[in-house]
Amino acid sequence: MKFSELGLSEKVLNAVEASGYDTPTPIQEQAIPHALQGRDVLGIAQTGTGKTAAFTLPMLSMLERGRARARMPRTLILEPTRELAAQVEEAFGKYGINHKLNLALLIGGVSFGDQESKIARGADVVIATPGRLLDFTERGGLLLTGIEILVIDEADRMLDMGFIPDIERICKLVPFTRQTLFFSATMPPEITRLTETFLHNPVRVEVSRAATTAENITQTLVPSGSSPEEKRATLRGLIRGADNFKNAIIFCNRKRDVQVVYRSLEKHGFSVGALHGDLDQRARMTALDAFRNDQVQLLVCSDVAARGLDIPDVSHIINYDAPHHSEDYVHRIGRTGRAGKTGVALTIVTRADQKSIAEIEKLIARKIDWQEGAVMPSEDEAEAPARERRGARGGRHRGEPREERPRP
Ligand code: AMP
Repeated sequence: MKFSELGLSEKVLNAVEASGYDTPTPIQEQAIPHALQGRDVLGIAQTGTGKTAAFTLPMLSMLERGRARARMPRTLILEPTRELAAQVEEAFGKYGINHKLNLALLIGGVSFGDQESKIARGADVVIATPGRLLDFTERGGLLLTGIEILVIDEADRMLDMGFIPDIERICKLVPFTRQTLFFSATMPPEITRLTETFLHNPVRVEVSRAATTAENITQTLVPSGSSPEEKRATLRGLIRGADNFKNAIIFCNRKRDVQVVYRSLEKHGFSVGALHGDLDQRARMTALDAFRNDQVQLLVCSDVAARGLDIPDVSHIINYDAPHHSEDYVHRIGRTGRAGKTGVALTIVTRADQKSIAEIEKLIARKIDWQEGAVMPSEDEAEAPARERRGARGGRHRGEPREERPRP
């Protein structure tokens, strides 16, 4: 299948060609023709599958007809985080190079002024995080009654972040007759309910999860002692010993560990940045840009900060902590091996993490190999992280062993 067979406009096809893509990815191949016919689409796909282009390209084709009016944007894309919103704006810049469209990025953490003037001028495309969008509609400066296409991206992430009530409010502010393109990596019951309420007879397009984690990413488990000092030493050894190493994203389960690991790597002379939810917008963008532009080689992240980020050419993912939620594992390692490239995902495993690993292996329906010649740490070491983690983070203890151990 070629891009030219999907029904996209000439201008869009030229921009795709200029981007260097010749074959649509499965989600693009399946979603674009339906989107162009005006159908609602329910896309079950995670980042790395090409889903951004799957909604951007048909939107651009459709936006060629008609033009925007002041304060009444024509299309609206909702993203859970500012970084994702900025990334979608970039995609519009790339694929919309032959279009003269007005884009407005409405995200928190920056002043209203610029955003207001873009809306007042008339925006073809608004890309927004839910909170800032509602700020605008409540101030009266933005009307959603002209929306022709609504995109809800990373819906399961929106759910994790508590945005579903906002999404429901926004869905009620846009016209009933709009077209909706809805994307989620997973379909928990709350998300299914949302699609049943707000989508009209959608075409369901699903890109399989296991295939996207397996083929081009080499996954390895690396045993480690349980203390933070031992884990940091294991991490340094991994970075120094990695084959074909270009750069790495390092994931920690907790924000404060991001900070500790970041400082430790810096102290040991590594070129490193950090990304977590407590940093302000400017610091997050600076860290991300430095990593994208190869000014730093390592980026230490939390899950919330990193979900969905598209950073091309990441050679290694290192899980400093095995994730407690197995789906986070899929999201994390999806940062490497993008767009058909190969990637390496290394997970540091202490004795106490073995239950989390078993859950991950169940989800991805395969066993992950241990590092060659690896030996697991002894039983005793299981207890240290269990003690440490208990009570550290409300409600997220699925991977912990023996909570119910009898008290002395
Ligand atoms: P996404 O899932 O939208 O985050 O896209 C993942 C990456 O794949 C991005 O870097 C895109 O630029 C790239 N990409 C999107 N479509 C294609 C395609 N048809 N062929 C190759 N790469 C693509």
